[in-house]
Amino acid sequence: MIAVLKNGVTKAQRDNLVKWLESQNVRVHISEGEVQTVLGLIGDTSKIDIDLLSGLEIISNVTRISEPFKSANRRFHPDDTVIEVGEGENKVKIGGGNFCIMAGPCSVESEEQILAIAQSVKASGANMLRGGAFKPRTSPYDFQGLRAEGLQLLMKAREVTGLPFVTEIMSASHLDLFADVDIIQVGARNMQNFELLKELGRSNKPILLKRGMSATLKELLMSAEYIMSEGNENVILCERGIRSYDSYTRNVLDLAAVPVLNGLTHLPIIVDPSHATGVSRLVRPMACAATAAGADGLIIEVHNDPVHALCDGAQSLTPEQFSDVARRVNEIRGIMNW
Ligand code: PEP
Ligand code: MN
Repeated sequence: MIAVLKNGVTKAQRDNLVKWLESQNVRVHISEGEVQTVLGLIGDTSKIDIDLLSGLEIISNVTRISEPFKSANRRFHPDDTVIEVGEGENKVKIGGGNFCIMAGPCSVESEEQILAIAQSVKASGANMLRGGAFKPRTSPYDFQGLRAEGLQLLMKAREVTGLPFVTEIMSASHLDLFADVDIIQVGARNMQNFELLKELGRSNKPILLKRGMSATLKELLMSAEYIMSEGNENVILCERGIRSYDSYTRNVLDLAAVPVLNGLTHLPIIVDPSHATGVSRLVRPMACAATAAGADGLIIEVHNDPVHALCDGAQSLTPEQFSDVARRVNEIRGIMNW
């Protein structure tokens, strides 16, 4: 249920109302927008007398909402959420008209590799570095990532270039190691690892939540809800393609997800054209299309030597190809005027 307050309601009046609502066993999420204050009532609202609430002098209108996602719902929170990471000149904002390009290798492989790639993507206009330290691989015999050492190398790359970074977590038991990570990624395979999501909800780190391979958009939003309902509202959603029956691309990039999610939620939405297509040649057109569709950012795999990459070489761009993509994406942003 959402209750919109009339303009000019004082803080004391609002707090009084919130206290009364909370005494009826609902949690109240307050969203103070530029024009309106909206109260989101979360929990069992069946006992709330909607007529009584609507009739209060300070209430403009009350609506029951049927969507099961509350904290992520745009109706509760009409203004876009803007996530901020990094400091000073390396501060990055994502959402609310701020576009972010995250770029880097699938996996951190060595100090030399991550430093070279970080420097080149920065020079081409990336504002965040990506790189996996803990890798979710289909085969246990494949490279599993440099793990804790990989995180140290990402921190080193940040020290050298200033770029904040995003990296994937696979287990809540590793959370201590992630204390100095800028954005924690939950990969497609863990989108419904509910215990992990709840644990991340109790941290204050921004979370990049990737869509599961066969997840509906509602399921994606419910996973965001797991994180947010524990108190962490810093969630970025990522469309990275879903499984289908065609084999020319690794996944099917669901670009309509961008405007659909934009209507449903205030959370930023970014697109991963690398995992969505699995083919480096397809990354440029899909990065451009995602930008035109209104995404708040992109996450793109870049490798200085794709042929010898330990993971996902076929979909990785060279630094030169990435530079071309970043330039075109910026041109498209200028045209679209999002
Ligand atoms: C990744 O970003 O490296 C990754 C494994 O992505 P996804 O979870 O989308 O497959
Ligand atoms: Mn990858």
